[in-house]
Amino acid sequence: MGEFELIDRYFAQLGARRPDVQLGVGDDAALLSVPPGQDLVACVDTLVAGRHFPPDSHADDIGWRSLAVNLSDLAAMGATPAWATLALTLPEFDEEWLEGFAAGFAALADQHGVALVGGDTTRGPLTISVSLMGLVPAGTALRRSGARPGDLIYVTGWPGDAAAGLALLQGRLQGQGADRGALERKFRRPEPRVAFGSRLRGIASSCVDVSDGLAADLGRLVARSGAGAVVRAAELPLSRALYALAGEARAREFALGGGDDYELLYTVPPAARGRLLQLAASAGAPACHCIGEVVAGRGVRVLGERGELPLPRGWDHFSA
Ligand code: ADP
Ligand code: MG
Repeated sequence: MGEFELIDRYFAQLGARRPDVQLGVGDDAALLSVPPGQDLVACVDTLVAGRHFPPDSHADDIGWRSLAVNLSDLAAMGATPAWATLALTLPEFDEEWLEGFAAGFAALADQHGVALVGGDTTRGPLTISVSLMGLVPAGTALRRSGARPGDLIYVTGWPGDAAAGLALLQGRLQGQGADRGALERKFRRPEPRVAFGSRLRGIASSCVDVSDGLAADLGRLVARSGAGAVVRAAELPLSRALYALAGEARAREFALGGGDDYELLYTVPPAARGRLLQLAASAGAPACHCIGEVVAGRGVRVLGERGELPLPRGWDHFSA
């Protein structure tokens, strides 16, 4: 099978059909209609085999992840995803792998109404680069820079689960049964908080998605905002499965330092707290655990019951 047949078979019709796609796969570039009154929001993320996912990952999980990491970035902006392009570098033509990859990508694209509108296909070490574009009402996108001292810090979901799932897959953490399955799934199939992110517009003062670990990403958020943060370790939401397999101390380390969560970390001015609680009540998913607050100054401090805890390793490397 040649390059063009491959593109035609696996990628020409992938994802949602959207009336705003004037030209998708097949021309020299995609032609997309941006509605008036909307800002275009764009991001890109590259996954390299062995670096961003274990080399023996299932193809459908890789397809899912390559879109999920980008959906999470748009979620953090409060944007609604619309169009993706895919640059795929493959070591060889492998029909079974391509089937699986396309199926995993399509499952998530369909779920979020994303159309695959173009891409590039080359030969080389397995690398997947997805760009995603989305829309947000003009002037309303969430940013990292809006947090102010006194704002409350919230996180969605159960940070640390995905990192523990990866640790299980790599033999750095032991465990069996339903807990193991749940944590591994959180790593293999992250569910970006797209709907919730868009509903945070007008409520959150700032937002970031957690991809490199809660403490590191919070550090980036407050650095952008010219502020600092205090996190209360006892308030970190720990899933039952994480607690059961890792124990409290290690569970907290996963929650603070582990990556790959794709949860949203956001700040809310005290005056908007009531609206957040209303939103959270209707959002279903565990949407708002308050873990601390924004303070004047610089950097992130984590307070345990008996004083300040050391920040997860890698922190200095990531801090601004
Ligand atoms: P060009 O040489 O003009 O850059 P290509 O031959 O690389 O175009 O691609 C032909 C068409 O197929 C283009 O519309 C391109 O966007 C699309 N395409 C190529 N690879 C992929 C892919 N992996 N996924 C989706 N679309 C792709
Ligand atoms: Mg061309």
